[in-house]
Amino acid sequence: MSRAYNFNAGPAALPLEVLEIAQRELTDFNGTGMSIMEHSHRGKAYDAVHAEAVANMGKLLGITDDYQVLFLQGGASLQFAQVPMNLLGQGQTADYINSGAWASKAIKEAKKVGTVNILADTSKDIPTTLPDFDALPYTKGAAYVHVTSNETIAGTQMKTFPKTEAPLIADMSSDILCKPIDVSQFGLIYAGAQKNLGPSGVTLVVIRKDLAERAPETLPTMLQYRTQMGENSLYNTPPTFGIYILMLVTRWLLEKGGAAGIEKINQAKADKLYTAFDNSGGFYKGTAVKEFRSTMNVTWRLPSEELEAQFIKDAIALKMSGLKGHRSVGGIRASIYNACPAEAIDALIAFMADFQAKNG
Ligand SMILES: *Cc1c(COP(=O)(O)O)cnc(C)c1O
Repeated sequence: MSRAYNFNAGPAALPLEVLEIAQRELTDFNGTGMSIMEHSHRGKAYDAVHAEAVANMGKLLGITDDYQVLFLQGGASLQFAQVPMNLLGQGQTADYINSGAWASKAIKEAKKVGTVNILADTSKDIPTTLPDFDALPYTKGAAYVHVTSNETIAGTQMKTFPKTEAPLIADMSSDILCKPIDVSQFGLIYAGAQKNLGPSGVTLVVIRKDLAERAPETLPTMLQYRTQMGENSLYNTPPTFGIYILMLVTRWLLEKGGAAGIEKINQAKADKLYTAFDNSGGFYKGTAVKEFRSTMNVTWRLPSEELEAQFIKDAIALKMSGLKGHRSVGGIRASIYNACPAEAIDALIAFMADFQAKNG
């Protein structure tokens, strides 16, 4: 078997151990004579998978009874709309921090629903950065404050969160469970699964239960959080195979020591890579300001676009995929989510030194 070094931004690398279990169980899940995909979502076999996914997620996040874990569909992009549809009442204002491309998309959707106040806009800043949360003009009585914990394209990550009176809502698509967080700071957290949790097609929502009551009755049933809350995410047919893989990923994370265990591994991986370009004499230049460098999406530039193109091409020849920066910003991006093994980063660093020696 020959696995690539996978630096894809999303969908992204999954733990090999998880893929191997799924492979073994693919045609005969737990001696039932069929794949988990072929089971009823209301039957015993799937029920156990679903229950374990919910329980493990709750354990990994350390949530209390005031919160509920949901597995929805439509990606983080539907949450951009579903959050304001449920939580932004008539005549109310929602505060948003525009930290980059993903926050901008969330803002665009919220504006279709109600009044949006932009607390700060660092989306066009170069080097990429984040605002000082203490200095922001929060709206008194805001419906909520929305942040994007990790800007996947810009390569910035919030190391702390604003302390807000209004419920804090976070898009954590690209750094959920990369480190411990205190869920009680948040009203709602959402994340598409395809970066740190599993395959695409599942969206994690962690909601403080009381917030669901805000939704207008006129909202379509499928768009009200309380619909899926009342049915444990089984109001309609959930993406069963995706939730099964996500459940295997939560098991894998628990074996790694949970969020605290994976944080140590992630920090070591990120430190190594950032050090490599900081020590390159300016050949590799990071695009995010140091204090907000992401441990998940590492972004940098080379002296010219020609060299960047050559770098990506040479990397592909060494089975390193996904290093091309997002089409909107160019440059290089290595997405090094939880499942990206340390060996992949070692291989990348060795290649970077070699490439610089040849082209520097
Ligand atoms: C990838 C990503 C999204 C979009 O997720 P979809 O599941 O494709 O809708 C939203 N926000 C962030 C921070 C992302 O990284």
